[in-house]
Amino acid sequence: MLRTLLIATHNAHKTSEMRAILGSHFDRITDLSESPGTTPPVEDGATFAANSTIKALAASRAYPEVFILADDSGLEVDALGGAPGIYSSRYSGEDATDASNRDKLLRELARPEHAGAPRTARFRCVVTLAKGGEVIAQFDGTVEGWIARAMTGEGGFGYDPLFIPEGHNQSFGELSESQKNTISHRSRALQQFQEWLHRSSRD
Ligand code: IMP
Repeated sequence: MLRTLLIATHNAHKTSEMRAILGSHFDRITDLSESPGTTPPVEDGATFAANSTIKALAASRAYPEVFILADDSGLEVDALGGAPGIYSSRYSGEDATDASNRDKLLRELARPEHAGAPRTARFRCVVTLAKGGEVIAQFDGTVEGWIARAMTGEGGFGYDPLFIPEGHNQSFGELSESQKNTISHRSRALQQFQEWLHRSSRD
């Protein structure tokens, strides 16, 4: 068993979801809110995988002695050509909040040119495991769904109140954290990580 895992994020929601999924594999799971003094790296990669690597390596250089897990994730909306994609967290500008990003998404989809378009979308997540300043492994996960016309539910974060996963009629904002954690992009990436952990412990 790897003893300590440092999640390279300040996003308490990501940490909570990752803790719930991975808790049994580690003695201790922390995140950067408990490790002050790290400056967030510039996420100038062109893909989720590249930005996930950037975050993992930056945290791993600062804390070379522990296993680091970095998540880069976002929402791709087909009618918007895959936007907001890697820009999901800052879709409505540098001072973006989850609420302003959701408002912008609904405004964009309400434009006449998108009015009749399918509202299909997917969340993607790439997690990167690193130690000693080097990448050890990378895993990805996707969940397909569509964008609702209005927000529903108070749970989750980001675009959750607008995203209805395939096979459901409630948004991630309405589903419980444990329901979200069985089908989400993050849980699917972490499922692969757990299979990797099992394989590694056998070798
Ligand atoms: P990151 O922190 O740079 O990876 O940006 C992730 C952004 O994508 C978040 O700020 C959210 O806007 C969005 N996002 C990623 N995962 C989720 C999720 O599980 N629910 C809702 N929004 C998400």
